[in-house]
Amino acid sequence: MNKAQNSSAILALKDVVKTYEMGDQKVHALRCVTLDIGDNEYVAIMGPSGSGKSTLMNIIGCLDVPTTGSYSLGGEMVASKSESELADIRNRLIGFVFQTFNLIPRADIFHNVELPLIYGGVAKAERRERAMFALQQVGLKERMKHRPNELSGGQRQRVAIARALVFNPTIILADEPTGNLDSKTGDEIMSMFDELHAAGQTIILVTHEDHVARHAHRTIRLRDGKIESDLLASGQVPASLLSRGSAANYDLSSAGVA
Ligand code: ADP
Ligand code: MG
Repeated sequence: MNKAQNSSAILALKDVVKTYEMGDQKVHALRCVTLDIGDNEYVAIMGPSGSGKSTLMNIIGCLDVPTTGSYSLGGEMVASKSESELADIRNRLIGFVFQTFNLIPRADIFHNVELPLIYGGVAKAERRERAMFALQQVGLKERMKHRPNELSGGQRQRVAIARALVFNPTIILADEPTGNLDSKTGDEIMSMFDELHAAGQTIILVTHEDHVARHAHRTIRLRDGKIESDLLASGQVPASLLSRGSAANYDLSSAGVA
């Protein structure tokens, strides 16, 4: 039995449409995306520039809401939530990792990792414990007094991963996490994601690079705001698609399955 058949969905998008209004122009960023992702899945999202990858990640990460369609995350329907409810869900369930690390240059590593906990209203002693644990997970506890500019690119991305981990999120969302790194450092970062996945973390990442996507167990390709293909590394179509009977919507021949 494959992974997708074993896992229960922790997030589900149904007929999600995202349309941006630009003056009297409409930009169709997502056109009817239906998708389930299960606990402990490791998913790569690929597709040409402008195909809707960031829009999809923003919706999954509760940074944005669909124009129409529904989105449930951790059993909650998020499409109808207020800004502050969304922020709360985001804090509890999602850890973000960005291509450009997004660390605060003037703060030391410890403070960078602690910051989301301060915003989350966590008390000082617990903040310290959690931040130290997260830094230990990425192997940078000894560097906690250093500032980001005293670290290499790979170490900075590890700090960003530690920051993403401090709330013990259900899902890590990473938008081109190796995009600014040389290939050896990128491989080290991907090994870290592999370890987190093996420890039970659910990971969804955007990448342009096949060798990065190969770390994932499932690859979703977007084109023109639609899912072009959705395949497990084994070459199978995820069971969640077959069970809905919607696999007929996908071009399986071009994906090398049929
Ligand atoms: P990708 O990440 O795959 O490059 P995006 O999700 O960023 O694609 O964009 C999908 C489409 O939506 C593009 O045509 C883009 O120009 C458009 N788009 C994205 N964000 C906005 C926005 N805030 N306002 C208007 N159009 C947007
Ligand atoms: Mg993008």
